[in-house]
Amino acid sequence: MSEAADDAKPRRPVIVHEPEPADALTWQVGDVSVARCLETVTEMSPRYLLPDLSRELVAGLPEWAAPFFTPDGMMLLSVHSFVVQSGDLTVVVDTCIGDHSDHSLAGDAGFVDRLAAAIPGGLEAVDFVVCTHMHFDHVGWNTRLIDGEWVPTFPNARYLVSKDELDGTQANDLMGVMEPSITPLIERDMLDAVESDHRIDENLCLVPSAGHSPGHVCVMIESGGERALITGDSFHSPAQFAHPEVSATYADTDSAAATATRLRLLEQLVDADAIVLGTHFARPTAGRVRSGPERAWFDTTI
Ligand SMILES: [Zn+2]
Repeated sequence: MSEAADDAKPRRPVIVHEPEPADALTWQVGDVSVARCLETVTEMSPRYLLPDLSRELVAGLPEWAAPFFTPDGMMLLSVHSFVVQSGDLTVVVDTCIGDHSDHSLAGDAGFVDRLAAAIPGGLEAVDFVVCTHMHFDHVGWNTRLIDGEWVPTFPNARYLVSKDELDGTQANDLMGVMEPSITPLIERDMLDAVESDHRIDENLCLVPSAGHSPGHVCVMIESGGERALITGDSFHSPAQFAHPEVSATYADTDSAAATATRLRLLEQLVDADAIVLGTHFARPTAGRVRSGPERAWFDTTI
């Protein structure tokens, strides 16, 4: 383990572009299919995002955690969308960073073309866009800047956010997302502020998970007796399955609530055989949470 992960002052993130392999990651949950479309992977000191994820904790993680860190202990933070096909519905969960230059993570202008190619029918075919929360790396491609105007990227979609998230962000827009990424949707009547347990169809519903943000939601997929949970930022790293007390202190609205949410979700996920689809988990991104002799762990051999 190098000193890199133990700098007294965490390094700024370093962008590493992971070439998108031809075999994009996909999963089947009963009759529902899910595909991951990658914007970027960022290599960063774990403590840049998770201040209590110390060098010692990372070094002590078993072999299952290896895909989510570099050999010298830097965290790999993936930013990707999930494209969900449920019956006739096409749903995009989170829209990544976007065409912005003023954030701590940089987006990738080529992302929209990759996303369009990953969606049967292209961007026009998207029925719903779910924003798990309104941080810049989840709503960035809600819109695109065209001739000086922020224009919805998915022209026929209803965009869903929780009421609590919209209220909280309107009251305190810490990341400056309203003007480019949300207001253009409100002006065109394309945004629905819904309850945090809103049901989208018979297979998909939102799961209240406030703490990281005021009205954060996860997305539960249930079909044919199978289940999968899209985490949003309730978990930033699979390391938090083993150490759920570790929180994104600087980014959380309420870290105590974020930890309570994580513990509650963990209780539901451990040995429940639900697939966990991590919104910021690097490849392989998905797994099942298993109990261990001392700590829970993430089984990616699904
Ligand atoms: Zn995030």
